[in-house]
Amino acid sequence: MATVTADRRERVAALGYDYAAQPKTRATGCNLCGATAFVVLTHRDRYGYPASACGCSRCGLVFIDPVMTADAYGRFYAGIYRPLVSAYHGRLIDARTIQGEQREYAAERAELLAPYVSGRGYRTMLDIGGSTGVVAHALARAFDLRATVIDPAPMETAEAQSLGIETIEGLVESVDLGERRFDVVVICQTVDHLLDIGGTLRRVRELLTPGGILFVDIVDFRAAYLRNWSVEEAVKIDHPYYLTEPTMTAYLRRAGFDTARADYAADHLHVSYVASPVPADAAYLPPPMEVCELFREIRFVQNVRRS
Ligand SMILES: [Zn+2]
Repeated sequence: MATVTADRRERVAALGYDYAAQPKTRATGCNLCGATAFVVLTHRDRYGYPASACGCSRCGLVFIDPVMTADAYGRFYAGIYRPLVSAYHGRLIDARTIQGEQREYAAERAELLAPYVSGRGYRTMLDIGGSTGVVAHALARAFDLRATVIDPAPMETAEAQSLGIETIEGLVESVDLGERRFDVVVICQTVDHLLDIGGTLRRVRELLTPGGILFVDIVDFRAAYLRNWSVEEAVKIDHPYYLTEPTMTAYLRRAGFDTARADYAADHLHVSYVASPVPADAAYLPPPMEVCELFREIRFVQNVRRS
């Protein structure tokens, strides 16, 4: 284990990425509830970079603060992200190698979505952060939908184009989609990478047809730290946000979505949500007990003696 860690540290160091020097901004309010009182939970991420994760004292949302600017993240995704993940895992992970995994992922999610999408007369689908388009392509085929992928990474949208999918380079909060509306919106393994989850979900709510359906999945932060018994190992600069079931449910309710089905993925790490548009409950907060228990559990994981 010590050797794995040392090799890993060397591979990450060899990339020469200067995280400390990247431009960053400090959160002025919680992205979920707007509160301004935070608890600093950690000071290093799993790569060893000096990134702090904070928790909102009111709603329990966990996020990196200060966080890199959108430009700094743009450069990160264009050049560092896949090599960094490859260095961490000790094997090549890029726009091509991830496709096998993505096909498997798509098949599993299609099964989850089938009761909510089949036979509804849906025609269009928007995939936010759709990367190489493999998932969009598979879902579009399974449900006979016309797919559009929005993604900020040009290398990955090029792969999507080669599958004949309409691609839009950029971020959903800022691209101009005019009057276009979509029957199905999917946010696959992407929500934790966004810089503004609240803004994105509100925009998605506008882009969805009235009888439409949303699919979104999270890396469950509790699962991530419990499986490695380390909060630092669960934090990585690629994820500005660390969601839990209570905080994701609150995001959905506040943006105007009701969860029709939640699903613990077979990997025990991800939690998926199928959600329908309902009137927004903009003041919805996770139960205070959940927030209390999250911070208590984090302290327990950080300090309990393990023999
Ligand atoms: Zn909050």
